[in-house]
Amino acid sequence: MDNTIMIVDDQTLNLRLLEEVLKDYTVILAKDGEHALQILEGDNLPDLILLDVLMPGLSGFEVIKKIKDNDKTRDIPVIFITGLKSVQDEEEGLNLGAMDYIMKPFNPAIVRARVRNTLRFRNQQKMLETMAHIDGLTEISNRRNFDVILNREFKSAVRNKRWLSLIMIDVDQFKHYNDSYGHAKGDVALIKIAKTIKSCLKRSDDYVARYGGEEFAVILPDTDEIGGTEVAESIRQAINTIKMEHKKSKGDPWLTISLGGYSCIPEHSQNEQRIIEKADICLYRAKNNGRNCVEWEQSVK
Ligand SMILES: [Mg+2]
Repeated sequence: MDNTIMIVDDQTLNLRLLEEVLKDYTVILAKDGEHALQILEGDNLPDLILLDVLMPGLSGFEVIKKIKDNDKTRDIPVIFITGLKSVQDEEEGLNLGAMDYIMKPFNPAIVRARVRNTLRFRNQQKMLETMAHIDGLTEISNRRNFDVILNREFKSAVRNKRWLSLIMIDVDQFKHYNDSYGHAKGDVALIKIAKTIKSCLKRSDDYVARYGGEEFAVILPDTDEIGGTEVAESIRQAINTIKMEHKKSKGDPWLTISLGGYSCIPEHSQNEQRIIEKADICLYRAKNNGRNCVEWEQSVK
């Protein structure tokens, strides 16, 4: 993993020395606390901050408080690198949330080792965060991430007065499939279905998640009923095309899906739960209409 380190120090010589010591990494240099905080407002966030304590303007202790108070930067580990040698200073730095404390004059090998350890921790943490968003079986987003994305898209649609569509998808007679072919085959089928649904989504903002056992959900921003049913129909057909054998099925002798969709231009007073309920009602209708079909509803409110 390529890591970026920000070094904050008012002494140009220190910046140069540390840059040389950490030349295996991408390095961002900041000459004081204000400069560092300015960089942290941008999109290119470092994975680790090496922070001097004594600087004109904001001290390192004041800078770390601001870093830890900001949701966007709170998780970036900070290592103090300072000439302050008292135990009280070290204690204060660690209490403010620093991961480590290095005394000047520093030993290059020690700096490298502590940076390496801290980055290893940071990278593991980032990996866990990513995994927490992903369904372990199908490797698409999980329910938790779906809730976050739907909430975000809902707010954005309210703000911009734009269409938002949601498709709820359920694999037909899946329990029956598991009973006949075993759960291992059931898992393989779910992986294939997830992959197929994903391949039907063409725009970068279109989004699919595993909603529950054999249920999937698709969020389509900026999409009304016409666009939404088109996507839903393409997903339904794609699943029919791969023909995953299900001989004992009451309908076609392969696995099929039912889809319920809902489109609206949501309003401030509503919440996204309503969209899920409406799409769910359509999904039930699709089941009742004999499965392997799409049911849709649209509302301007
Ligand atoms: Mg200094």
